[in-house]
Amino acid sequence: MKVDLSFLKELGIGEKNAGAHNGEWLQSPDASLLEVITPITGETVASVYQATPQDYEKVVAESRKAFKYWRTVPAPKRGEVVRLIGEELRKYKHLLGKLVTLEMGKILPEGEGEVQEMIDIADFAVGLSRQLYGLTIASERERHRLYEQWHPLGTVGVITAFNFPVAVWSWNALIAAVCGDVVIWKPSSDTPLTAIAVQKIVDKVVKAQGLPNGIFNLLIGPGSTVGQMMLEDKRISLVSFTGSIPMGRRVAEHVGSRLGKSLLELGGNNAIIISENANLEMALRAVLFGAVGTAGQRCTTTRRLVIHESVYETFVNKLIAAYKQVPIGNPMDAGVIMGPLVKREAVADMMEALKGLKEEGGGILYGGELLEGEEYACGCYVTPCIAEAKIGYKVVQNETFAPILYLLKYKDLDEAIEIQNGVPQGLSSAIFSTNMMEVERFLGPEGSDCGIANANIGTSGAEIGGAFGGEKETGGGRESGSDAWKAYMRRQTVTINWGSSLPLAQGIKFGE
Ligand code: NAD
Repeated sequence: MKVDLSFLKELGIGEKNAGAHNGEWLQSPDASLLEVITPITGETVASVYQATPQDYEKVVAESRKAFKYWRTVPAPKRGEVVRLIGEELRKYKHLLGKLVTLEMGKILPEGEGEVQEMIDIADFAVGLSRQLYGLTIASERERHRLYEQWHPLGTVGVITAFNFPVAVWSWNALIAAVCGDVVIWKPSSDTPLTAIAVQKIVDKVVKAQGLPNGIFNLLIGPGSTVGQMMLEDKRISLVSFTGSIPMGRRVAEHVGSRLGKSLLELGGNNAIIISENANLEMALRAVLFGAVGTAGQRCTTTRRLVIHESVYETFVNKLIAAYKQVPIGNPMDAGVIMGPLVKREAVADMMEALKGLKEEGGGILYGGELLEGEEYACGCYVTPCIAEAKIGYKVVQNETFAPILYLLKYKDLDEAIEIQNGVPQGLSSAIFSTNMMEVERFLGPEGSDCGIANANIGTSGAEIGGAFGGEKETGGGRESGSDAWKAYMRRQTVTINWGSSLPLAQGIKFGE
């Protein structure tokens, strides 16, 4: 297997790259080098100088300065800047998508799809910039006006996961930007190059528009140092964190202890219920995309199938036949639908989970093997796995970030919903059924307890127009569309007395 690295130059990526940016690229003499390895072949493609505490200070200080300016720019004018960023992203869709594939290992159509999501969010944010509405409320006092308005928050720290290395930044940064916030991005150390490429694309617009430094910033470095500093820094008004549940718990504790704001988008453990009334062909396609897409490394990946006993055997046979046809290989190649896992540690986690599954009494029906041979020498390629399990198993209760699909059988819908809800996470869920009563029950208050509930669509591949996020240990945050923008602003309730007396609320008479 070979990868072409010549396109990196077109994105401004060199052999060694500075990893901190506050309008200028910063590189301390004592910065340590982070090697960037592609999971496609296991080779090093470039390296990045990581941010030092001095770089951190320079970035945060510049962001605070920029905020004083940016918050006064009218929101539609901020929207215009985001529109231009969207235009620039359109030009780089293919190249940036290719870099996502190189660095993270998802197939090229998914890499490009991720950039399309950035473009879509930019468009959404432009419209939003004229719709940051507050309510006018009827006052109980005469000649009084009561209303609420939304103001920018300040510096937003955006800490992102490896699996959507650029889209998650755009959900946060482009919405935050129209809201009048400035952004400091700390990407995953597995995917720093995509972050540098995006920063360079954004920088073109910032410079061409004559905007000051410090509106869009970048800090590449270990989560345990740079990330941790953000959690503890009172100057970071909001920490928007996307990542695993254990890390999210840490974020909530540290930011919470300084009574700061955090927005959490954590792990999922998503199930599809396949009823006896399901269109099995549609369900099959949805399960394949949901469980095998991005090699099982989406937060919304389908991890559990809850199948009615009457269709269990038929469906499972179809599923195994479909899994056998999955082309696995170089994610740059047309026709491949499953690339490598992000790194060897992820493969080890998968194997550990399968060992645990067997110890608990579960059985593997298909896959779950490490692929060997010259083509797969980097040790990151596996076959996707279908396993039989019970809801109480520890492995089923946890999110293993790999393509393992657990099969669970049910007799009636109440039991299916109980199984669907019977995990600590609450991100995405779905039912396949052509029976309206089943569907409505699943979507009703006694149904799915997740932030996302779908009918006759799988668990992954959400549109940007809706608010995205989950309940329970998924963290409760909402990003992207709908009114998710409110998390990036502070609400202010205003009362104006335009009369010449001073009536008190609740009719209180005081000293009269
Ligand atoms: P991770 O938790 O290992 O890392 C996430 C980020 O946290 C990285 O940038 C990392 O450097 C940083 N970090 C590490 N230590 C830190 C610290 N002490 N302080 C602050 N930041 C620190 O997650 P990952 O492996 O990159 O991503 C996979 C996980 O992300 C999965 O659990 C997946 O479900 C979740 N995810 C959730 C969503 C969602 O929207 N709900 C989206 C994508 C991914």
